[in-house]
Amino acid sequence: MINKYYESDADLGNLSGKTIAVMGYGSQGRGQALNLRDSGLDVIIGIRPGKSRDQAVADGLEALDVSKAAERADIIMILLPDEIQGIVYKNEIAPYLTENKCLMFSHGFNIHFGQIVPPANVDVIMVAPKGPGHMVRRTYEEGKGVPALIAIHQEYTGKAKEIALAYAKGIGATRAVVLETSFREETETDLFGEQAVLCGGTTSLIKAGFETLVKAGYAPEMAYLEVLHEMKLIVDLIYEGGFTKMRDSISNTAQYGDITRGPRVIGAESKAAMEQILKEIQSGAFTKEWMLENAVNRPMFNALTRADEEHLIEKVGAEIRGMMPQFRK
Ligand code: NDP
Ligand code: MG
Ligand code: MG
Repeated sequence: MINKYYESDADLGNLSGKTIAVMGYGSQGRGQALNLRDSGLDVIIGIRPGKSRDQAVADGLEALDVSKAAERADIIMILLPDEIQGIVYKNEIAPYLTENKCLMFSHGFNIHFGQIVPPANVDVIMVAPKGPGHMVRRTYEEGKGVPALIAIHQEYTGKAKEIALAYAKGIGATRAVVLETSFREETETDLFGEQAVLCGGTTSLIKAGFETLVKAGYAPEMAYLEVLHEMKLIVDLIYEGGFTKMRDSISNTAQYGDITRGPRVIGAESKAAMEQILKEIQSGAFTKEWMLENAVNRPMFNALTRADEEHLIEKVGAEIRGMMPQFRK
């Protein structure tokens, strides 16, 4: 079984007297940095001038250029977009990554696929919250935490595990649970999850359902409410109590339709596609494609994103949400 750690397994003392530089102040950077600070740790932010830096300053944090922060820090957590970590690391972090420092990530992508190759005389570890940055922050403020994964890629000081656990405690993760994994397992499962199920799978499922109803002549507003709006209600129930709780809450008719029709929608063809997608992740083919896409300024990323932005479901959705009080700011 996988190793699990809780509050009493982690000691913040392992980070006392150490300066933690959080590189990047976006989703994860902001959530993690504010939690670390409120846990009494010494945090600085490495960030280029711009909106994120202004936000860090407004939040009362010390914000420096990445290279300056790397120089000052004992612990360097890289929370920059995955596709630019390699270049920023090479130019602004590597020159200051001296013996006994600790290099940290919240996703194993760059280490696992060899985009960053750290020197042998530092610790290289991962603390990866299993939730977006604003949840990392909000749950911490509520006295709770988002679960996290830890992994050790390279042990040099003999303290890598203690540091990973202390950092996980600092961001509030040990209040939930911390699971120990490897860079490979985290990277491959994270990419698979977001591609096949969470992001790619879900949006494609919703779109296919919407298009089917609209093509058959039903009102787009009805289609939106059925296949998108209600999605959250169902997912919330599954999240709280698994399939069982969800099925206890829906009608018997819905449940019979669920168990007999669902496997026809996600059948052999979809499973084969999932296996192929996983193979492309494992072989590095996906990463190669994504890094090359970035090298040519993202033509497919931009075109496909725009096509979805212009989809009828987004127009209808914006209109309907505009009429619902819970979405009014
Ligand atoms: P974001 O895109 O939200 O934030 C990236 C930050 O990096 C921004 O503050 C941006 O600042 C800054 N930045 C971009 N380019 C540079 C540069 N050249 N020099 C200095 N700063 C720069 O990233 P995420 O928080 O989503 O992701 C960070 C890491 O966390 C990734 O490894 C990701 O895989 C991982 N992760 C993310 C999760 C999530 O829910 N988002 C969940 C778990 C892990 P600016 O405003 O100037 O552009
Ligand atoms: Mg991811
Ligand atoms: Mg219904």
